[in-house]
Amino acid sequence: AKARGRNGYRFYAPEMSGEGVARLQLETYLRRAIEKDEIFLHYQPQVEIDTGRLIGVEALVRWNHPQLGLVPPFRFIPLAEDTGFINQLGQWVLQQACRQMVRWQEAGLDVPKIAVNLSVRQFERGTIVEVVGAILRETGLAAERLQLEVTESLIMNTGDALAYINGLHAIGVSLAIDDFGTGYSSLAYLKQMPVQTLKIDRSFIKDISTDVNDEAIAIAIIQLGKSMNLSVIAEGVETDEQAAFLLRHGCNRAQGYLYSRPVAPEELLARWRAQPGT
Ligand code: C2E
Ligand code: CA
Ligand code: CA
Ligand code: CA
Repeated sequence: AKARGRNGYRFYAPEMSGEGVARLQLETYLRRAIEKDEIFLHYQPQVEIDTGRLIGVEALVRWNHPQLGLVPPFRFIPLAEDTGFINQLGQWVLQQACRQMVRWQEAGLDVPKIAVNLSVRQFERGTIVEVVGAILRETGLAAERLQLEVTESLIMNTGDALAYINGLHAIGVSLAIDDFGTGYSSLAYLKQMPVQTLKIDRSFIKDISTDVNDEAIAIAIIQLGKSMNLSVIAEGVETDEQAAFLLRHGCNRAQGYLYSRPVAPEELLARWRAQPGT
């Protein structure tokens, strides 16, 4: 069945046609989704825990298909990665996200930074630095306002990752390692890379006050960030307890439902333009 979501979107329910819509069908739909205006972005605030100040937003892609409803990213991002469509999609996302930053600015909201997710295949063509540079020029967004989120596996499994990351750094864009701690990454490699931010994966934050192992991992990542002079942000922060824990252990940046779900650009504007200190 299709359930009506909080925003009035219908959510894509896999039981609609057995295992869900056939992969091939989904792929066909997805290829047309951009031109049909079915793809859009939501933005999730990143905040300073102690002050509540807005320090950035993460762009998260959404696909609302007329029949299927809202298809979750975990269904279509891997598909787009397999088919190579992620290159087109990823470029579109970057463009929209950078444009939105300029629009917010024009509307009186100064968002310090926008984080955009990159997939490993976006490194494959060898043109990522040129693509990002062109989008910044075209939108007029200052490079230091853009942060690209990459995963450990992207870094470890892409032959030329270091070269591209250096190239992006050279044009002024910053890099964050997403889902940090879930992949395997060599600390020696991390040391060589011009990366500015570690994002503690939600899986370690979830049981932070009950699971001593998760606690230990979160603390270790915060310490690692400190000693390497990297900024650390926790994702998936849902409770005051989690936020207090992070603050107590020296992590003052967070993203999660405690502060806001990912929202449409107008909603972000309405909420944060009114906030002092932004
Ligand atoms: P991610 O990069 O780790 O993004 C964070 C995910 O956690 C988002 O899911 C977000 O809605 C969710 N989230 C944020 N705060 C909380 C919280 O407090 N509790 C819980 N339970 N969840 C929270 P979403 O939007 O479904 O995206 C899922 C994944 O899809 C992302 O994980 C990212 O890997 C991928 N993705 C989304 N947009 C893009 C994109 O434009 N490009 C690429 N390559 N991947 C994307
Ligand atoms: Ca991310
Ligand atoms: Ca993440
Ligand atoms: Ca994650």
